[in-house]
Amino acid sequence: MKNALRDVIKQMRRAYSFENTNNQIVKNLINSSVYQKSKNIMLYYPLKYEVNLLEILKDDTKSFYLPKIIKDEMLCCPYKVGDELTLSSFKTKEPLTMSADKNTIDLVIVPALCCDKNNFRLGYGKGYYDRFLKDFKGNTIVCIPKDFIVDTVYPENHDIKIKYIITD
Ligand code: ADP
Ligand code: MG
Repeated sequence: MKNALRDVIKQMRRAYSFENTNNQIVKNLINSSVYQKSKNIMLYYPLKYEVNLLEILKDDTKSFYLPKIIKDEMLCCPYKVGDELTLSSFKTKEPLTMSADKNTIDLVIVPALCCDKNNFRLGYGKGYYDRFLKDFKGNTIVCIPKDFIVDTVYPENHDIKIKYIITD
């Protein structure tokens, strides 16, 4: 079920114009109280067909982190504009910095193929965020166009619910 949905959404993303919704999503994120009250924020480096939130890195009142995969674990590594990044095997860009303690992060902005009405998300099928968020106590957000909110993503027991969905 999940894999079939992944295929459908991946195809839909290729035809979708993210430029039309991206700015509004960034605005809604910046205006949200959960963003405003967070000091240490983990975001993700966007792939080609994904909401791009890199604009928020200009906010010098916050500290930012990007994920880095080492073996089967996801780490959260400090990143600021101008720092060096390397291309990972997932075609995302990763910092060279050492991992921070997960407990210092207030807010994780989680990438998703789509979300459902119960705040479950569908990822790429590797479960990195489910494992990362399992013992995470802070806030979580998915930023996604409303066209990518579906009835169900067929959640399983290991799937972690996201606290907030920000849309256009
Ligand atoms: P995604 O969240 O990336 O869409 P899935 O939710 O389908 O992917 O998870 C992919 C796989 O990750 C699962 O089949 C499971 O084996 C593994 N996984 C996810 N969470 C955990 C966990 N908390 N402990 C162990 N394995 C997990
Ligand atoms: Mg999952």
